[in-house]
This record gives sequence, structure tokens and C-alpha cells, in this order.
Amino acid sequence: MHIETLAIHAGRQTDPSTGAVAPPICLSTTFERAPDGEYPLGFSYAREDNPNRKRLEECLAALEGGTEALAFSSGMAAANAIIQGLEPGDHIIAPDDVYYGLRRLIGEVFGKWRLEVSYMDMTDLAGLAAAIRPNTRLVWVETPSNPLLKITDLSAIAAISRRANAISVCDGTFATPVLQRPLELGIDMVAHSTTKYIGGHSDVLGGALITKFQNYLFERARKSQQFGGAVPSPFDCWLVLRGVDTLPCRVRAQTESAGRIAAFLTSHRAIEAVYYPGWSTIRAITLRHVKWSGSAECLSIRSCGTRERAMQVGARVQLFTRATSLGGTQPDRASRINRRAKHARRTFCAFP
Ligand SMILES: *Cc1c(COP(=O)(O)O)cnc(C)c1O
Repeated sequence: MHIETLAIHAGRQTDPSTGAVAPPICLSTTFERAPDGEYPLGFSYAREDNPNRKRLEECLAALEGGTEALAFSSGMAAANAIIQGLEPGDHIIAPDDVYYGLRRLIGEVFGKWRLEVSYMDMTDLAGLAAAIRPNTRLVWVETPSNPLLKITDLSAIAAISRRANAISVCDGTFATPVLQRPLELGIDMVAHSTTKYIGGHSDVLGGALITKFQNYLFERARKSQQFGGAVPSPFDCWLVLRGVDTLPCRVRAQTESAGRIAAFLTSHRAIEAVYYPGWSTIRAITLRHVKWSGSAECLSIRSCGTRERAMQVGARVQLFTRATSLGGTQPDRASRINRRAKHARRTFCAFP
């Protein structure tokens, strides 16, 4: 099935108790036992599993071509569950321009765990292979990367990791499974911040971890989810799944816009550089990973001149919302607010 079909069918069974075609939100925290003490419908307590999370996990696993998914209360909770699975003294390789939250998590939360970390340019495959140590257990990659949207050769990274007996995880937040399916390229697990394109409406935090084959870090992450409890609420799961309904359509529309905006800005005299994965210098790699002929739904720009000048450019945008995060549908609303009340601009000024 194509991803458009999976996005509206996976996890969307008609509710067996009412015939409802839209999934009901099941708020019950506890589920009845049969006289023999068993749970005939498979649910016991909402932290361990609940019907809305089960639907979401089923859907996300299908979108990535995986077999199992774990939904978390945020993207960082998913990353946290992976890092928690490592042993003290283990070595991690991560991108030098990784999402800043991961660097902070490893440094500030896990600082006392004596993990070793190498932050590498993941486009330098020889450098990556040389950085492998006997205790390397996790290779974390993020592609396209944030904010320079560098593209990494996932097949090569998967091969290097496998040879080293390390588990590879790709943070696929920026590409979404619509544009890139890392499991098909040999990567062991995919992590997402569903807060971004997958949720798609800037109104719910969420994270997920998806695997195709069993591995010990996934199993440890499952314990972290069920017993540690960084789980999304039933309504969070409902919102994310609702977002997935339109994910392929949104990504297609955003891709078309991003390509046109990137082309326009390239010839603008105030812009020094446009970073758009469709024009990556390793375009061949992009084409292999990104299904839609090397295009993408995100871009970043570097303005000419000083930081002050860049802030001025940011201060004057009309249609884009100045905010942390990405993947939502809000720019239009923000521009209307900005026109109505000048002071509202400050509310939206939140450059990362
Ligand atoms: C936002 C983001 C995260 C963290 O996700 P949260 O849902 O904010 O916890 C991780 N990786 C990338 C690439 C992100 O953009």
C-alpha cells in the first residue's frame, strides 16, 4: 500500500463496541479483569497500554515499514528511553549538528553515567568509521539535519554501524516517513518528534520509536515507556493520529512551497545562502533517500551581513511565524495577528 493509503487505514479499525468510524478517546486508566484474573481485551492499566496509543503505534509502525512502535510524551522522551538503555561506559556517535536537545540530554541528564560521546560530521564516512571504538553501541543520525539540512548517507551509516555491532537510530523528524524511510535503508530504528510534521498542527507534543527487528535497546526503551511512564495521554495519541490523516497531503503541499521559496530566495540579494535538501551537493544521495525527486518540505537561509541584520530580516517577515518548532499549519494565522497588534510580534519572536 502507498503511504497515502496507510496514513488513513493503519490503526483505524472501526470501533468494535459502537461501530464508530472515528476512533473514540478512551480515558479509562484501568481495565476490568475476567474472573480468572486475566485481561481478555489485552489492556490492564493505561500507562502500560491503552487503545488510543495502540492505534497510534500501529499506524506509525506501518508508515515506517516497521513491525513495532512505541509512542512517548515527546520526542525527547523517546530519545531519553534509548539513552537509558545504554550501559555506563558505552560510546555514542552523534552528529555534530544534532538537535541541541539531544546534546543537552546526554551532557546534563546522563553526565554522571560516564557515557563516551563523539560528535561527528556524519557526511564524512571515513571519519565516522575511524571514530568507532570497541565500546560503540549507538550511532545516532539525523537527516536532514537541523538547521543546515545536511543529508547523510543512511545506507552507508547502517553498514558501518552493523560492522561495529552498534545499533543505528535515525531521527527522521525532518523528513517524515513520506520522504524517507530509514528502515528500508538498513537503519535499525527510527525516532520521531511527532510534535512536528506528523502531528502537524502545533497543538500536541509527542515522540515515537519504530523498529523492524527486535533489538535490546528497543526492548529496554519499551520498559522505559511502560514502567518509566513518559507516555502520551489518550487525547495526545488521538491528536497525533488525527494529524497523520493529512500527513502525506501536507508534506506534498509543503514540499511544493519550500521548493518555490528556495528558488525565489536564491536570487535575492539580501540572502547569502539557501539550504534546501533538494540541492544538496550530494544530490545523488538525496535522490536515493528522498522519494520526491530530491525535494523536501523544509529549507533554511543565511542572510547577508551580521547577526543584527539577520534579526532584522526575521523581524520583518510577514507570512512566516517567528517561533521555535516546525511542521505546523500556523503561519497564516500569525500574520493576521501581527497586522492587528504590533506588540503581538514580540510574542512570536522566539528564534532558537
Ligand atoms: C523537536 C525535535 C526533537 C525533540 O522533540 P520534542 O517533541 O520537542 O521533545 C528531536 N529531534 C528533532 C530533529 C526535532 O526537531
